[in-house]
Amino acid sequence: MTLRSDRDFSNVDCAEARAMAQEALLIAGQSEVPQTARNHAAVCVRCRSTIDEMSRAEGLMAAAFRAARGRIPAPPGELVEEIVSSVGSLAPAAGLLRRIRRSVSRMLWLSLLFLSFLPLCWLAWWVLRALIDLNGR
Ligand SMILES: [Zn+2]
Repeated sequence: MTLRSDRDFSNVDCAEARAMAQEALLIAGQSEVPQTARNHAAVCVRCRSTIDEMSRAEGLMAAAFRAARGRIPAPPGELVEEIVSSVGSLAPAAGLLRRIRRSVSRMLWLSLLFLSFLPLCWLAWWVLRALIDLNGR
């Protein structure tokens, strides 16, 4: 019994624990890290801070996504596919990018949200200028 639980705490190394956390948080979009990875993080300071960072990043993106959902449409899946595939298989980051497709989709969506403010600023400036013109006559 004791041996078994000792094994549960140590049967993954740093790379495996981080991969598991990355898989859960950034790829599957879960808010929880698997128990095995959490067990490892409990005894490994470096993995704990890495996993915390990942968790924070995922939390921020998910919160922003929830807060503004419905205000502008999410980027279409084909656009994400296009961006991911245009990177090409030779780029070292291509594999990772393909795996974090879900996060790419969210980042793209947040960029679109940001860009959607630009026409609004332009419109406000245009209305202001029209009002100034009217008053000047
Ligand atoms: Zn570790």
